[in-house]
Amino acid sequence: MAKRPKHTNKHIAAAIDYALKNGWKYIETGKSAHAFCILRCISGHGEHSISVSSTPRNPENDAKKILKLVKKCTPSENVEESEKEENENETNE
Ligand SMILES: [Zn+2]
Repeated sequence: MAKRPKHTNKHIAAAIDYALKNGWKYIETGKSAHAFCILRCISGHGEHSISVSSTPRNPENDAKKILKLVKKCTPSENVEESEKEENENETNE
């Protein structure tokens, strides 16, 4: 996978990582405006696409939105187990 910039907000960064681990695509938005990137499911569902703000007003909320959407469309069924370990690590604030 190509290098990608890390989001400055850790909640969002974790959500992006989660999406990518679940097979979602990271789409660069280039230098355009407010979007940091776009995340999209690999199945190409139009409704499973979310643009990630580079300056979210409520990053935790945005992160939750991303996670929720990713959970709706995950190609792998093995994801849930590996995800548990991730979540435990993430509680280290
Ligand atoms: Zn989908």
